[in-house]
Amino acid sequence: MMRNFSWPEKILLASPRGFCAGVDRAIDVLNRVQAADGGEQIYSYHQIVHNTHVVKKFEEQGVKFVENISLVPEDKTVVFSAHGVSPEVREKTKERRLNWIDATCPLVEKPHREVKKFAEQGYTILYIGHAGHDETIGTMGEAPDHMILIETVEDAETVQVSNPDKLALTTQTTLSLDDTAEIVAVLKRRFPHLTAPRSEDVCYATQNRQDAVKAMVKKGAESVVIVGSSNSSNAHRMREVAEQALKMKFEINGKGAAYLIDDVQELNGKESYFSHLHVVGLSSAASVSEEKFQEVVNWFKERGSRIVEEEVVADESNIHFASPQRLKLLEERAR
Ligand code: SF4
Repeated sequence: MMRNFSWPEKILLASPRGFCAGVDRAIDVLNRVQAADGGEQIYSYHQIVHNTHVVKKFEEQGVKFVENISLVPEDKTVVFSAHGVSPEVREKTKERRLNWIDATCPLVEKPHREVKKFAEQGYTILYIGHAGHDETIGTMGEAPDHMILIETVEDAETVQVSNPDKLALTTQTTLSLDDTAEIVAVLKRRFPHLTAPRSEDVCYATQNRQDAVKAMVKKGAESVVIVGSSNSSNAHRMREVAEQALKMKFEINGKGAAYLIDDVQELNGKESYFSHLHVVGLSSAASVSEEKFQEVVNWFKERGSRIVEEEVVADESNIHFASPQRLKLLEERAR
C-alpha cells in the first residue's frame, strides 16, 4: 500500500510475547488427546486457553467446549483447561466415569496446593484475584469456606477477618504486578501477621510480558497495541500496565493510548489512532499465537512503518512443562 499520510516510522515488538509454556502445553495436550482417541468426540471443560482463535480452531477440529461438566456424556474423554478446576469438578468427573486429562498449568497448581495446606491448618486465606475468572473459581473451590476474595485496594482496606493471627495470602497467576504489590502492602499494614508466599504467585510469563510492555514505553513507544481476547486476564493486565506507563510518560493529548484487540481485523479503519505518532509498541498476551501477532505487525508495515525493533527483557526459550502422566498412558494404550 502506498504511504500517503503521516504514519509511525517505527514499531517496537515486545519480547517475550505470545504463548507461554503453560499455554503451549495445554494446546499440545488437547491436540495429542484428539490424535490418541482416534476419532472419538473429545470435550474440553472451559476454553482450553483464553483465546477466541485457538478455541475456534479446536472447534473446527471437532472439540466440544463445555462450561458444565454434566454436559460431557458418561465414559467420554474431557480435558481440563490451563486455568485449573475445583475439587468439586474433579469429584463430578469421577462420578460420571469420565476419562479426564488435566492440562492445568503447573504454575496454577501452586496456589491450589497453598490453599489446601493453609485450609488444613485452619487459616483464613485472602485470595487476590478477579471474580468469575476460571482460575479464581478453581482455586477458591479448594477451600470455599476458608477463603475471601480481594479484588481491589478498597477490598484490602475494608476486609474483616475473625482471627488476624491465622491469616494467609495467595494470588491469581495473571495479575498486574504493580496492582498486586499495592494490595499486598495494604494487607500487610493491616494484618502484620499475614502469612504470604515466599515468592509471588504471579507467574514468570505474566511478569515478563508486563516488563516488556513497560520497556517498550521507556524505549519510546507513544501508544501500545496488545493482541489478546477480551476474556484473557493476562491480556487486560498488559493493556492496563501499558496505559499506566504511557500516562506517566506523556501528558500530551493524543499520545498515551493503549489498545486491546482480538486480531488485526479490529485495526481496520482505525488508522487515525496512530497516524500522528512516531513509534508504536506491539505485544501479545500469553494465549495468542505468533501468527496472529505477525498479522498486526504486517498491518503496520503495509501502511509505512519501516523500522522494526525488538525490545527483549527475558529469554523464555528454555522454559517447558512436562506433559501430564495420564496423557502418556492414553497414548500408550492407543498404540
Ligand atoms: S500465564 Fe502463567 S500461569 Fe497462565 S498458563 Fe501461562 S505460565 Fe501458566
